[in-house]
Amino acid sequence: MSQVFLAKNIEPILERINLNLLGKNVGIKVHFGERGCTTYIDPKLVRAVYDKVIASGRKATLIECNVLYKGSRTNSTDHIKTALEHGFNMPIDIVDGEMGDEFIDLDGCKVGRGLEKYDSLIVLSHVKGHQSAGYGGAIKNLAMGLGSRAGKLDMHSNLKPLITPDCVGCGKCARNCDVQAIRLENKKAIIDHNICVGCAMCIAVCPYGAVEVPWGGRTNEELQRRMVEYTKAILKFRPTALYINVLENITALCDCYGMEQPTMMDDVGILYSDEILSIEQASLDLLNHHSQGEFLKVNEINKYRQIELAEEAGLGNSKYELIRL
Ligand code: SF4
Ligand code: SF4
Repeated sequence: MSQVFLAKNIEPILERINLNLLGKNVGIKVHFGERGCTTYIDPKLVRAVYDKVIASGRKATLIECNVLYKGSRTNSTDHIKTALEHGFNMPIDIVDGEMGDEFIDLDGCKVGRGLEKYDSLIVLSHVKGHQSAGYGGAIKNLAMGLGSRAGKLDMHSNLKPLITPDCVGCGKCARNCDVQAIRLENKKAIIDHNICVGCAMCIAVCPYGAVEVPWGGRTNEELQRRMVEYTKAILKFRPTALYINVLENITALCDCYGMEQPTMMDDVGILYSDEILSIEQASLDLLNHHSQGEFLKVNEINKYRQIELAEEAGLGNSKYELIRL
């Protein structure tokens, strides 16, 4: 059974956090929020964690990967601009490169290549609902968050991208497809799905948003299972990790939605643990308790299934002792 610490604000957590478990070059995994989102993690809280790591003589960098869809975080330049607009005024490394195509293969999982630079992780997660996974906490932050664009497509769908009627035949997608899976016919792009390797580059480069992510190619449970596989691969590669789950501004959907969302309950607090499944279990239990069961119903997805699948995959133990600071 692992200890999970709960506090109303970050200071008691910072006193408790055991930085001696970490290496010298720490990647702090965060999600900066899509432009238009107002409920992403508080940058002042992230700054407090960052300063604590720096004060210990370690190097710290906020790390993240580009997103799958067209938005304000599709390439590294826009992504960092969005992060700075949102107040994350600290060193930032988008670890899957400018266009989200730089990855390492970890047990079949496509993870941002830049992760290689960091010897240990702080997984600093804004906890909320998630439209496909049901719940977005530390597993989601690590797996989906450190998946390169191709990795994200792989987790979300077993289908390949699709061209929409908005295509004007400019040819940019075809010029950027490394495997020549795209041809132009009658001023429209056509993807040969027998050749396409699902790198998702065409989604990123199309200036007209005419390449569609085939959302829904996986069931919610398949997505959860794939996320667990990514988490397992990442933690096998970088086993030294600490977890902070921020249960504030709890919304039904994730921070990738570029819009204001209503919060579902009062803020619960901040959790800290060195065991991923314990902190996830404690987070879900607290959210359900504070929402009188409403959080469990949102998105109509079994949120505990992520944790069950992770336990079955040997990712750890979800039992915990909650210690209020
Ligand atoms: S980049 Fe977009 S608009 Fe241009 S050909 Fe490809 S799908 Fe069509
Ligand atoms: S996903 Fe990648 S491989 Fe497939 S068509 Fe698009 S650019 Fe080509």
